[in-house]
Parts: sequence; C-alpha cells; structure tokens
Amino acid sequence: MKNLSVTLESYNDQNIFAKILRGEISCKKIYEDSYALAFYDVFPKAAAHALVIPKKPYVCFDGFITQASDDEITGFFKAVGKTIELLGVAEEGFRLVSNSGEHGGQEVPHFHVHIMGGEKLS
Ligand code: AMP
Repeated sequence: MKNLSVTLESYNDQNIFAKILRGEISCKKIYEDSYALAFYDVFPKAAAHALVIPKKPYVCFDGFITQASDDEITGFFKAVGKTIELLGVAEEGFRLVSNSGEHGGQEVPHFHVHIMGGEKLS
C-alpha cells in the first residue's frame, strides 16, 4: 500500500480522466454527484460499458481505499450503484473491474471502476 504523500505526489493531473473532470475533454455522461462522475467508455469492451471515477485525485484503488474519507468511499460506491441502475444492467447481471497498477493493466492513472454488461460476458 502506498502512503498519502507518495500517491498524491505521483498523481499526474494531465491524465485523460483529470481532463474530463476539468471539462477540458468531453465525455458521454451517465451520472454525476459531488463524489463521482460516471460516463461511457470510449472503446467499449461490452454492449454496455461505463466508467466511474472519484472527483478527487486518487491514482488507483489502494490509494483510494486507504486515503479517502468514509464519506468519499460511501459516496463513490453509491455512485457506482446508481450508474448500474441507470445503465439498466442490474437485473441481468454485470461485471465490476478496477485495474490497478502495472500488473493490473491500468492505463489511465486516475482510480476508476469499469461496469460492463448488456450481454453475456466471456
Ligand atoms: P484501464 O485500463 O482500467 O486504465 O482503462 C481505461 C479505460 O479508459 C479504457 O477502457 C479506455 O477505453 C477508456 N478511455 C480512455 N480514454 C477515454 C475517454 N476519453 N473517454 C472515455 N473512456 C476513455
């Protein structure tokens, strides 16, 4: 687990999701509140593919879960739940994925959860 200073120092605010949060790049928004933003993945790997990101600058899951406040964590995962509802995948099922770090295959260094569904996944 990384400590707070390492994670915040290593956050690159030029990553694409930081630009989306600042409104410098557009996204196809699904849901937004004070804790999180949810939008469609631009290269969908399933019939329904959304991403949910916290509004604050956490690089990956371990930084988020160790450094975010209880309110932020609850707010973020409630936003994931709301996005699942809005995507319309709750009844038939879905997959939640969060790639973390190099071995996890994380491409964008701003913590995010993938929601994939809308079809039977392999
Ligand atoms: P990960 O490998 O978990 O970091 O996944 C990053 C995801 O972000 C990939 O599924 C990309 O297709 C997606 N992505 C990259 N750029 C954008 C963008 N501008 N808008 C929406 N999704 C994006």
